[in-house]
Amino acid sequence: MESLETELARARDLDIRVLADAIESIGFECTRCGACCTSEADEPHTATVFPDEVRELESETRDWRDVARPMPYGLDEAGEGETFEWALQTDGCGDCTFYTEDEAGMGTCTVHDERPLICRTYPFSVALGGTSQPMGEAVDSEGMVRAHECEGLGRDISRADAEELAGALKERAVRELEEAIGVRENYRPVEGSTVVHDSEGPKRPDGREIGDTTNRGDTDE
Ligand code: SF4
Repeated sequence: MESLETELARARDLDIRVLADAIESIGFECTRCGACCTSEADEPHTATVFPDEVRELESETRDWRDVARPMPYGLDEAGEGETFEWALQTDGCGDCTFYTEDEAGMGTCTVHDERPLICRTYPFSVALGGTSQPMGEAVDSEGMVRAHECEGLGRDISRADAEELAGALKERAVRELEEAIGVRENYRPVEGSTVVHDSEGPKRPDGREIGDTTNRGDTDE
């Protein structure tokens, strides 16, 4: 694989119009089935969220832990160990904490306008090393764009929607690579039962930086 810096340069060079052409060619319309927001095969939902996206979703009534949890990959069964990403928080059923269904059973995102880039761009990814390929292998591809399993694929999409999606897809690729580089540069081994190493440094599961003296009013872990 090329270095993360090389892939980041390639991501920054992506042409949104070309990405939009590929998305138009593949086709997509969200059917609001909720498959990308809910648990699958008894596995809790896992969708990567960047630290600044977590902060954007925090509010007076929602703290860090209400928005995100340590990505379980790399943690043991007790949830202890080191991990390198945050995942959107899940509810008791393993669904995204922001997912709900209306009376007609249609899936709804309660933070739709602020939803993270991973949600804005599902079911697409770009073919660059160091970027995420959500929900397994691609089922379709066109140029640099890959499409992952989703019942909305193949449906007509307007040019405006394709360009908006393409812009978000490029932004996500850039951000994922910047995040990966930040994780590598700010990694330092620390004591603790559960540590999330994100691009800002090691953190506790409540989002506090380890070594940060700011008292957010919580106890350690
Ligand atoms: S934030 Fe919204 S779009 Fe993203 S997984 Fe949760 S419910 Fe779905």
